[in-house]
Amino acid sequence: MNQHLRSDPIPFIDVASQRRRLGVSLDAAVKRVLDHCQFVNGPEVAALEAQLAAYCGAKHVIGCASGTDAILMVMMAKNVGPGDAVLCPSFTFIATASPVARTGATPVYVDVDEATFNMSPESLKRGIATARKAGLKPVAVIPVDLFGQPADHDAIAEIARDEGLFVLDDAAQGFGASYKGRKLGTIGLATATSFFPAKPLGCFGDGGAIFTDDDELAATLRSIRVHGQGVDKYDNVRLGLTGRLDTMQAAILIEKLTIFDDEIAARNKVAERYARGLSNVVTVPRLGPGNSSVWAQYTIRLPKGTERDGFAAALKAQGVPTAIYYGKSMHQQTAYKQYPVADGGLPGCESLSQDVISLPMHPYLTEADQERIIAAVRGALST
Ligand SMILES: *Cc1c(COP(=O)(O)O)cnc(C)c1O
Repeated sequence: MNQHLRSDPIPFIDVASQRRRLGVSLDAAVKRVLDHCQFVNGPEVAALEAQLAAYCGAKHVIGCASGTDAILMVMMAKNVGPGDAVLCPSFTFIATASPVARTGATPVYVDVDEATFNMSPESLKRGIATARKAGLKPVAVIPVDLFGQPADHDAIAEIARDEGLFVLDDAAQGFGASYKGRKLGTIGLATATSFFPAKPLGCFGDGGAIFTDDDELAATLRSIRVHGQGVDKYDNVRLGLTGRLDTMQAAILIEKLTIFDDEIAARNKVAERYARGLSNVVTVPRLGPGNSSVWAQYTIRLPKGTERDGFAAALKAQGVPTAIYYGKSMHQQTAYKQYPVADGGLPGCESLSQDVISLPMHPYLTEADQERIIAAVRGALST
């Protein structure tokens, strides 16, 4: 099933193998929805929310239309807007900060630790001071669990507490991972995740969820999800969205959740094999103390002086796809470069953007394919 000829390209992410593994159970789940016809807010949505809550230990789970909406809905529920500053790492996917900007608030960029790719607590402190000097009111911090590894949550929580900020964890890439024995979804005021197909727990379209233990916030989020509804459907008490998770996607996610832990274990085996095969030629990712990862990406750093485009082309010629996450940090993006940067700048983000490259990573990567990838990396670096 996963046999590739030497010349066949290896998939970067293999959604098809998982589809084959789940087979008829996925077909049956989709058919149940087709038969009951409750395509919006059908019973599978509440069932999935309950299962996700049990999975990570959060009190409330609110399914929504995407990871981006998950972040936006929390910003809206907390009335974040013009004059407010929200601290975000700059080395992340654009959707960490785009919902902040959308509310009229100001994203303030924070540097990352080069060893873990995650938010630097020291830079966060400087960023809060930078925001105040600029006349903004710091209200929130969005740590990101980048590439599947939890951020330095205790240090960030302590700064947030001292400074009166709420924490929204962006676990779009990290859901399923643990921080000091706690599953992501239970850290901070709320957690946002994404079920985009390429994420570790992905659906077959767009989807997301918000996790929180706060009853009032959960009720507000449920209202925002449906046009800001009040006690009944046509009573609108606040601004809202059409922010629901489709029933069909919830039905698919219920099936995928049954194999999620097994897939996480398989991803960890793949990561271990990469580390064994590559740690003496490139910088391999390192987990911080108390962290487990779901390896949304396996991102290495190339040795100084390696020409990255040439390296990627050499791998491609061997049938090994790669991707650059992220060649530009947010503060280097056209629509986002006007926002303030924490004092001290973002040297971590800028050096990572120069030398990172991500290798194929998914639970169905065979040992044989992985040997090919490792050989291709070693070969490209020795020429
Ligand atoms: C994917 C992602 C998002 C957004 O999720 P969507 O479901 O694509 O809207 C947000 N933050 C990070 C870090 C992501 O990787």
